[in-house]
Amino acid sequence: MKVFVVNCGSSSIKYQLFDMSDESVLAKGLLERVGGDAVLHHNGLPGRLGRDVDAPDHAAGLRLILDILVDPEVGVIGDTDEIDGVGHRVVHGGEQATDSAMIDDGLIDIIKQNSELAPLHNPPNLAGIQAALEAMPNVPEVAVFDTAFLATMPPKAHRYAVPEQWYARHHVRKYGFHGTSHRYVTLRAAQLLGKRPRDVCLITAHLGNGCSMTAVASGKAVDHSMGMTPLEGLMMGTRCGDLDPAVFPYMLSRGMSADQVEQALNKLSGLLGVSGMSNDMRDLERAANAGDGRAKLARDMFVYRVVKYIGSYYTILPKVDAVVLTGGIGENSRTIRQAICEGLRPLGAVLDPARNDEIGDGKAGAITAESSELSLWVVPTNEELMIARDTQRLVAGL
Ligand code: ADP
Repeated sequence: MKVFVVNCGSSSIKYQLFDMSDESVLAKGLLERVGGDAVLHHNGLPGRLGRDVDAPDHAAGLRLILDILVDPEVGVIGDTDEIDGVGHRVVHGGEQATDSAMIDDGLIDIIKQNSELAPLHNPPNLAGIQAALEAMPNVPEVAVFDTAFLATMPPKAHRYAVPEQWYARHHVRKYGFHGTSHRYVTLRAAQLLGKRPRDVCLITAHLGNGCSMTAVASGKAVDHSMGMTPLEGLMMGTRCGDLDPAVFPYMLSRGMSADQVEQALNKLSGLLGVSGMSNDMRDLERAANAGDGRAKLARDMFVYRVVKYIGSYYTILPKVDAVVLTGGIGENSRTIRQAICEGLRPLGAVLDPARNDEIGDGKAGAITAESSELSLWVVPTNEELMIARDTQRLVAGL
Protein backbone atom coordinates (compact mmCIF):
# COMPACT_ATOMS: atom_id res chain seq x y z
CA MET A 1 0.00 0.00 0.00
CA LYS A 2 1.24 3.52 -0.84
CA VAL A 3 0.29 6.31 1.56
CA PHE A 4 0.73 10.01 0.92
CA VAL A 5 1.16 12.10 4.09
CA VAL A 6 0.33 15.80 3.92
CA ASN A 7 1.00 18.50 6.49
CA CYS A 8 -0.36 21.89 5.43
CA GLY A 9 0.75 25.00 7.29
CA SER A 10 -0.49 28.52 6.61
CA SER A 11 2.00 29.01 3.75
CA SER A 12 3.60 25.59 3.35
CA ILE A 13 2.90 21.98 2.40
CA LYS A 14 5.17 19.23 3.77
CA TYR A 15 4.67 15.80 2.25
CA GLN A 16 5.99 12.25 2.25
CA LEU A 17 5.05 9.27 0.11
CA PHE A 18 5.43 5.94 1.93
CA ASP A 19 5.56 2.41 0.61
CA MET A 20 3.92 0.68 3.57
CA SER A 21 5.14 -2.79 2.55
CA ASP A 22 8.43 -1.86 4.26
CA GLU A 23 7.53 1.64 5.56
CA SER A 24 10.15 3.15 3.26
CA VAL A 25 9.93 6.79 2.11
CA LEU A 26 9.68 6.98 -1.67
CA ALA A 27 9.70 10.75 -1.84
CA LYS A 28 9.38 13.73 0.45
CA GLY A 29 9.51 17.46 0.21
CA LEU A 30 8.40 20.88 1.20
CA LEU A 31 6.57 23.55 -0.74
CA GLU A 32 7.28 26.89 0.89
CA ARG A 33 5.69 30.31 0.53
CA VAL A 34 2.40 29.12 -0.93
CA GLY A 35 0.51 32.23 -2.07
CA GLY A 36 3.77 34.14 -2.64
CA ASP A 37 7.12 33.36 -4.28
CA ALA A 38 6.65 29.64 -3.87
CA VAL A 39 9.63 27.26 -3.87
CA LEU A 40 9.43 23.47 -4.04
CA HIS A 41 12.15 21.34 -2.46
CA HIS A 42 11.59 17.76 -3.53
CA ASN A 43 13.56 14.69 -2.62
CA GLY A 44 12.74 11.50 -4.50
CA LEU A 45 14.57 8.29 -5.27
CA PRO A 46 16.10 9.38 -8.59
CA GLY A 47 17.17 12.75 -7.32
CA ARG A 48 16.44 16.06 -5.66
CA LEU A 49 15.22 19.30 -7.03
CA GLY A 50 14.58 22.80 -5.80
CA ARG A 51 12.68 25.16 -8.07
CA ASP A 52 10.56 28.28 -8.07
CA VAL A 53 6.96 27.41 -8.82
CA ASP A 54 3.60 29.04 -9.22
CA ALA A 55 1.41 28.06 -6.25
CA PRO A 56 -1.15 30.77 -5.53
CA ASP A 57 -3.00 28.52 -3.05
CA HIS A 58 -2.88 25.09 -1.38
CA ALA A 59 -4.93 23.45 -4.16
CA ALA A 60 -2.48 24.59 -6.83
CA GLY A 61 0.43 23.62 -4.58
CA LEU A 62 -0.86 20.10 -4.05
CA ARG A 63 -1.48 19.59 -7.77
CA LEU A 64 2.11 20.66 -8.41
CA ILE A 65 3.44 18.17 -5.86
CA LEU A 66 1.35 15.36 -7.39
CA ASP A 67 2.72 16.30 -10.83
CA ILE A 68 6.27 15.92 -9.50
CA LEU A 69 5.44 12.52 -7.98
CA VAL A 70 4.39 11.22 -11.41
CA ASP A 71 7.00 13.20 -13.40
CA PRO A 72 8.72 10.88 -15.93
CA GLU A 73 12.19 12.10 -14.84
CA VAL A 74 12.08 12.70 -11.09
CA GLY A 75 8.78 11.01 -10.23
CA VAL A 76 8.49 7.83 -8.14
CA ILE A 77 5.08 6.55 -9.28
CA GLY A 78 3.48 6.17 -12.68
CA ASP A 79 0.08 7.57 -11.76
CA THR A 80 -1.62 9.09 -8.70
CA ASP A 81 -4.00 6.07 -8.86
CA GLU A 82 -1.18 4.17 -7.18
CA ILE A 83 -1.79 6.17 -3.99
CA ASP A 84 -4.06 4.09 -1.74
CA GLY A 85 -4.65 6.63 0.99
CA VAL A 86 -3.88 10.19 2.02
CA GLY A 87 -3.12 10.99 5.65
CA HIS A 88 -3.47 14.58 6.82
CA ARG A 89 -1.99 16.10 9.93
CA VAL A 90 -4.75 18.11 11.60
CA VAL A 91 -3.84 20.17 14.63
CA HIS A 92 -7.06 20.49 16.61
CA GLY A 93 -9.75 17.85 17.03
CA GLY A 94 -11.22 19.45 20.16
CA GLU A 95 -13.23 17.19 22.45
CA GLN A 96 -14.96 15.43 19.53
CA ALA A 97 -12.05 13.83 17.66
CA THR A 98 -10.30 11.50 20.08
CA ASP A 99 -8.70 9.23 17.47
CA SER A 100 -7.60 9.35 13.84
CA ALA A 101 -10.58 8.99 11.49
CA MET A 102 -11.64 8.68 7.87
CA ILE A 103 -12.53 12.07 6.43
CA ASP A 104 -16.21 12.63 5.64
CA ASP A 105 -18.56 15.62 5.89
CA GLY A 106 -19.09 15.06 9.62
CA LEU A 107 -15.35 15.11 10.31
CA ILE A 108 -14.86 18.19 8.14
CA ASP A 109 -17.51 19.92 10.29
CA ILE A 110 -15.62 18.97 13.44
CA ILE A 111 -12.37 20.38 12.02
CA LYS A 112 -14.21 23.59 11.07
CA GLN A 113 -15.80 23.90 14.52
CA ASN A 114 -12.37 23.63 16.11
CA SER A 115 -10.89 26.32 13.87
CA GLU A 116 -11.83 28.84 16.56
CA LEU A 117 -9.45 27.08 18.93
CA ALA A 118 -6.65 26.77 16.33
CA PRO A 119 -7.19 29.68 13.92
CA LEU A 120 -3.66 29.48 12.49
CA HIS A 121 -3.64 25.74 11.94
CA ASN A 122 -7.02 24.14 11.26
CA PRO A 123 -7.92 26.37 8.25
CA PRO A 124 -4.74 25.46 6.29
CA ASN A 125 -5.16 21.80 7.34
CA LEU A 126 -8.69 21.97 5.89
CA ALA A 127 -7.40 23.63 2.72
CA GLY A 128 -5.05 20.66 2.26
CA ILE A 129 -7.92 18.21 2.78
CA GLN A 130 -10.12 20.01 0.24
CA ALA A 131 -7.24 20.20 -2.23
CA ALA A 132 -6.54 16.47 -1.95
CA LEU A 133 -10.26 15.64 -2.28
CA GLU A 134 -10.36 17.69 -5.48
CA ALA A 135 -7.14 16.27 -6.93
CA MET A 136 -7.82 12.62 -5.93
CA PRO A 137 -11.59 12.25 -5.47
CA ASN A 138 -11.44 8.45 -5.34
CA VAL A 139 -8.65 8.09 -2.80
CA PRO A 140 -9.69 7.63 0.86
CA GLU A 141 -8.43 10.32 3.21
CA VAL A 142 -7.65 10.18 6.89
CA ALA A 143 -7.20 12.92 9.50
CA VAL A 144 -4.65 12.38 12.26
CA PHE A 145 -5.12 14.89 15.07
CA ASP A 146 -2.32 16.42 17.16
CA THR A 147 -4.70 16.54 20.10
CA ALA A 148 -6.07 12.97 19.89
CA PHE A 149 -3.50 11.08 22.00
CA LEU A 150 -3.98 13.65 24.74
CA ALA A 151 -7.78 13.29 24.85
CA THR A 152 -7.44 10.68 27.63
CA MET A 153 -6.30 13.30 30.17
CA PRO A 154 -8.77 13.24 33.07
CA PRO A 155 -10.66 16.42 34.01
CA LYS A 156 -8.42 17.04 37.03
CA ALA A 157 -5.51 17.40 34.58
CA HIS A 158 -7.21 19.10 31.64
CA ARG A 159 -9.45 21.61 33.43
CA TYR A 160 -8.23 25.05 34.46
CA ALA A 161 -9.25 26.52 37.80
CA VAL A 162 -11.37 29.24 36.17
CA PRO A 163 -15.15 29.85 36.28
CA GLU A 164 -17.00 26.74 35.10
CA GLN A 165 -18.80 28.69 32.37
CA TRP A 166 -15.51 29.43 30.65
CA TYR A 167 -15.26 25.70 30.04
CA ALA A 168 -18.95 24.97 29.41
CA ARG A 169 -19.58 27.91 27.09
CA HIS A 170 -16.18 28.73 25.65
CA HIS A 171 -14.39 25.35 25.76
CA VAL A 172 -11.52 26.76 27.79
CA ARG A 173 -9.44 23.76 28.92
CA LYS A 174 -6.09 22.09 28.25
CA TYR A 175 -6.08 20.14 24.97
CA GLY A 176 -2.35 19.71 24.34
CA PHE A 177 -0.43 19.31 21.08
CA HIS A 178 2.37 17.17 19.59
CA GLY A 179 0.15 14.17 20.45
CA THR A 180 1.21 12.23 17.36
CA SER A 181 4.87 12.52 18.36
CA HIS A 182 4.17 11.52 21.97
CA ARG A 183 2.15 8.52 20.76
CA TYR A 184 4.88 7.45 18.32
CA VAL A 185 7.65 7.54 20.94
CA THR A 186 5.40 5.84 23.51
CA LEU A 187 4.83 2.88 21.17
CA ARG A 188 8.48 2.77 20.13
CA ALA A 189 9.74 3.03 23.71
CA ALA A 190 7.42 0.18 24.76
CA GLN A 191 8.89 -1.92 21.96
CA LEU A 192 12.46 -1.05 22.98
CA LEU A 193 11.68 -1.83 26.62
CA GLY A 194 10.18 -5.17 25.60
CA LYS A 195 6.75 -4.34 27.04
CA ARG A 196 3.21 -4.04 25.71
CA PRO A 197 2.14 -0.40 25.22
CA ARG A 198 -0.62 -0.83 27.81
CA ASP A 199 1.97 -1.85 30.39
CA VAL A 200 4.28 1.16 30.14
CA CYS A 201 4.39 4.28 32.27
CA LEU A 202 6.56 6.97 30.73
CA ILE A 203 7.40 10.64 30.77
CA THR A 204 7.85 11.66 27.13
CA ALA A 205 9.56 14.98 26.39
CA HIS A 206 9.39 16.42 22.86
CA LEU A 207 12.15 19.04 22.86
CA GLY A 208 12.30 20.76 19.47
CA ASN A 209 11.57 24.31 18.52
CA GLY A 210 8.19 23.69 20.16
CA CYS A 211 8.52 21.71 23.41
CA SER A 212 6.01 19.62 25.34
CA MET A 213 5.91 16.83 27.88
CA THR A 214 3.40 14.05 28.47
CA ALA A 215 2.83 11.81 31.48
CA VAL A 216 1.83 8.37 30.15
CA ALA A 217 0.22 5.79 32.48
CA SER A 218 -0.53 2.30 31.11
CA GLY A 219 0.13 3.60 27.57
CA LYS A 220 -2.33 6.51 27.86
CA ALA A 221 -1.73 10.23 28.31
CA VAL A 222 -2.76 11.40 31.77
CA ASP A 223 -1.17 14.85 31.78
CA HIS A 224 0.57 17.13 29.33
CA SER A 225 2.40 20.44 29.46
CA MET A 226 0.88 22.40 26.54
CA GLY A 227 -2.51 23.93 27.15
CA MET A 228 -5.50 25.34 25.37
CA THR A 229 -2.85 26.69 22.98
CA PRO A 230 0.77 25.58 22.49
CA LEU A 231 1.96 28.51 24.62
CA GLU A 232 1.70 26.79 28.01
CA GLY A 233 4.29 24.57 29.63
CA LEU A 234 7.98 24.26 28.91
CA MET A 235 10.20 27.08 27.70
CA MET A 236 10.47 26.82 23.90
CA GLY A 237 12.43 28.30 21.00
CA THR A 238 10.32 31.45 20.83
CA ARG A 239 7.36 30.72 23.18
CA CYS A 240 7.38 31.71 26.83
CA GLY A 241 5.80 28.57 28.33
CA ASP A 242 4.33 28.87 31.84
CA LEU A 243 3.74 32.48 32.85
CA ASP A 244 1.68 34.34 35.40
CA PRO A 245 -1.46 35.30 33.40
CA ALA A 246 -1.42 38.69 35.12
CA VAL A 247 1.64 39.60 33.02
CA PHE A 248 -0.71 39.99 30.04
CA PRO A 249 -2.92 42.82 31.43
CA TYR A 250 0.15 44.35 33.07
CA MET A 251 1.91 44.70 29.71
CA LEU A 252 -1.31 46.15 28.25
CA SER A 253 -1.20 48.76 31.02
CA ARG A 254 2.41 49.53 29.97
CA GLY A 255 1.19 50.57 26.51
CA MET A 256 1.40 47.40 24.41
CA SER A 257 -1.61 46.19 22.41
CA ALA A 258 -3.10 42.72 22.98
CA ASP A 259 -1.77 41.66 19.57
CA GLN A 260 1.72 42.87 20.40
CA VAL A 261 1.77 41.01 23.71
CA GLU A 262 0.46 37.83 22.11
CA GLN A 263 3.04 38.06 19.30
CA ALA A 264 5.82 38.66 21.80
CA LEU A 265 4.84 35.67 23.94
CA ASN A 266 4.65 33.39 20.87
CA LYS A 267 7.46 34.66 18.66
CA LEU A 268 9.90 36.74 20.70
CA SER A 269 10.10 34.86 24.00
CA GLY A 270 11.58 31.53 25.10
CA LEU A 271 15.23 30.85 24.23
CA LEU A 272 15.21 33.77 21.78
CA GLY A 273 13.71 36.23 24.25
CA VAL A 274 16.01 35.42 27.17
CA SER A 275 19.22 35.06 25.15
CA GLY A 276 18.44 38.02 22.89
CA MET A 277 20.24 36.20 20.10
CA SER A 278 18.68 32.98 18.78
CA ASN A 279 15.98 30.35 19.20
CA ASP A 280 18.41 27.65 18.05
CA MET A 281 19.94 25.60 20.86
CA ARG A 282 23.14 25.06 18.86
CA ASP A 283 23.76 28.83 18.72
CA LEU A 284 23.06 29.14 22.44
CA GLU A 285 25.44 26.33 23.30
CA ARG A 286 28.23 27.92 21.26
CA ALA A 287 27.59 31.34 22.78
CA ALA A 288 27.26 30.00 26.33
CA ASN A 289 30.55 28.11 25.96
CA ALA A 290 32.16 31.33 24.78
CA GLY A 291 31.01 33.04 27.99
CA ASP A 292 27.75 34.77 26.91
CA GLY A 293 25.77 35.15 30.15
CA ARG A 294 22.34 35.59 28.55
CA ALA A 295 22.76 32.49 26.39
CA LYS A 296 23.84 30.52 29.46
CA LEU A 297 20.82 31.75 31.44
CA ALA A 298 18.45 30.79 28.58
CA ARG A 299 19.97 27.29 28.45
CA ASP A 300 19.87 26.92 32.25
CA MET A 301 16.21 28.03 32.39
CA PHE A 302 15.33 25.56 29.62
CA VAL A 303 16.92 22.63 31.48
CA TYR A 304 15.56 23.76 34.87
CA ARG A 305 11.99 23.76 33.56
CA VAL A 306 12.35 20.38 31.85
CA VAL A 307 13.67 18.89 35.12
CA LYS A 308 10.88 20.54 37.14
CA TYR A 309 8.17 19.11 34.85
CA ILE A 310 9.73 15.63 34.94
CA GLY A 311 9.78 15.85 38.74
CA SER A 312 6.10 16.76 38.90
CA TYR A 313 5.05 14.02 36.45
CA TYR A 314 7.15 11.51 38.38
CA THR A 315 4.95 12.11 41.41
CA ILE A 316 1.61 11.62 39.60
CA LEU A 317 2.53 8.35 37.82
CA PRO A 318 2.27 4.95 39.50
CA LYS A 319 5.80 4.14 38.25
CA VAL A 320 8.18 5.48 35.59
CA ASP A 321 9.67 2.88 33.24
CA ALA A 322 11.61 5.57 31.39
CA VAL A 323 11.90 9.24 30.65
CA VAL A 324 11.91 9.47 26.85
CA LEU A 325 13.63 12.39 25.13
CA THR A 326 12.86 13.28 21.52
CA GLY A 327 12.71 16.25 19.08
CA GLY A 328 15.75 18.08 17.66
CA ILE A 329 17.21 18.94 21.07
CA GLY A 330 16.33 15.64 22.79
CA GLU A 331 17.69 13.59 19.91
CA ASN A 332 20.89 15.55 19.33
CA SER A 333 22.07 17.76 22.17
CA ARG A 334 24.35 15.69 24.37
CA THR A 335 25.03 18.60 26.73
CA ILE A 336 21.34 19.36 27.35
CA ARG A 337 20.67 15.64 27.91
CA GLN A 338 23.56 15.49 30.36
CA ALA A 339 22.27 18.57 32.21
CA ILE A 340 18.74 17.09 32.40
CA CYS A 341 20.15 13.85 33.73
CA GLU A 342 22.21 15.68 36.36
CA GLY A 343 19.09 17.58 37.41
CA LEU A 344 17.31 14.27 37.93
CA ARG A 345 20.00 12.93 40.27
CA PRO A 346 17.63 13.13 43.29
CA LEU A 347 15.35 10.65 41.46
CA GLY A 348 18.28 8.27 41.04
CA ALA A 349 19.28 9.12 37.44
CA VAL A 350 22.93 8.32 36.62
CA LEU A 351 24.26 9.21 33.18
CA ASP A 352 26.38 6.80 31.15
CA PRO A 353 28.59 9.36 29.32
CA ALA A 354 29.69 6.88 26.66
CA ARG A 355 26.08 5.97 25.82
CA ASN A 356 25.09 9.63 25.80
CA ASP A 357 27.94 10.42 23.38
CA GLU A 358 27.04 7.58 21.09
CA ILE A 359 23.32 8.38 20.73
CA GLY A 360 22.42 10.88 17.98
CA ASP A 361 21.79 10.97 14.24
CA GLY A 362 18.55 9.05 14.46
CA LYS A 363 19.76 6.38 16.93
CA ALA A 364 17.57 5.23 19.83
CA GLY A 365 18.85 3.98 23.16
CA ALA A 366 19.28 4.48 26.88
CA ILE A 367 21.71 7.18 28.01
CA THR A 368 21.66 6.23 31.71
CA ALA A 369 23.87 3.62 33.38
CA GLU A 370 22.62 0.06 34.03
CA SER A 371 22.64 0.89 37.76
CA SER A 372 20.52 4.03 37.29
CA GLU A 373 17.25 3.93 39.26
CA LEU A 374 15.57 6.18 36.69
CA SER A 375 16.18 5.37 33.01
CA LEU A 376 16.48 8.08 30.40
CA TRP A 377 16.07 7.07 26.77
CA VAL A 378 16.45 8.88 23.49
CA VAL A 379 13.83 7.82 20.94
CA PRO A 380 13.78 9.72 17.61
CA THR A 381 10.27 10.75 16.71
CA ASN A 382 8.55 10.18 13.36
CA GLU A 383 5.16 11.87 13.18
CA GLU A 384 4.83 11.27 9.42
CA LEU A 385 5.26 7.52 9.85
CA MET A 386 2.65 7.52 12.64
CA ILE A 387 0.23 9.33 10.29
CA ALA A 388 1.02 6.85 7.51
CA ARG A 389 0.40 3.87 9.84
CA ASP A 390 -2.95 5.26 10.99
CA THR A 391 -3.93 5.92 7.39
CA GLN A 392 -3.00 2.38 6.40
CA ARG A 393 -4.94 0.93 9.36
CA LEU A 394 -8.11 2.93 8.63
CA VAL A 395 -8.00 2.53 4.85
CA ALA A 396 -7.52 -1.23 5.25
CA GLY A 397 -10.47 -1.22 7.65
CA LEU A 398 -8.40 -2.73 10.48
P1 ADP B 1 10.69 21.60 15.12
O1 ADP B 1 9.98 21.71 16.43
O2 ADP B 1 10.68 22.86 14.33
O3 ADP B 1 10.36 20.34 14.33
P2 ADP B 1 13.20 20.27 15.69
O4 ADP B 1 12.58 19.09 16.35
O5 ADP B 1 13.91 20.07 14.42
O6 ADP B 1 12.21 21.48 15.54
O7 ADP B 1 14.23 20.90 16.74
C1 ADP B 1 14.86 22.10 16.52
C2 ADP B 1 15.80 22.35 17.71
O8 ADP B 1 16.73 21.26 17.78
C3 ADP B 1 16.64 23.62 17.56
O9 ADP B 1 16.68 24.32 18.80
C4 ADP B 1 18.00 23.07 17.23
O10 ADP B 1 19.01 23.91 17.71
C5 ADP B 1 18.01 21.78 18.01
N1 ADP B 1 19.07 20.90 17.51
C6 ADP B 1 19.11 20.21 16.35
N2 ADP B 1 20.30 19.56 16.23
C7 ADP B 1 21.02 19.85 17.36
C8 ADP B 1 22.30 19.50 17.85
N3 ADP B 1 23.11 18.70 17.16
N4 ADP B 1 22.68 19.99 19.04
C9 ADP B 1 21.88 20.83 19.73
N5 ADP B 1 20.65 21.17 19.35
C10 ADP B 1 20.23 20.70 18.18
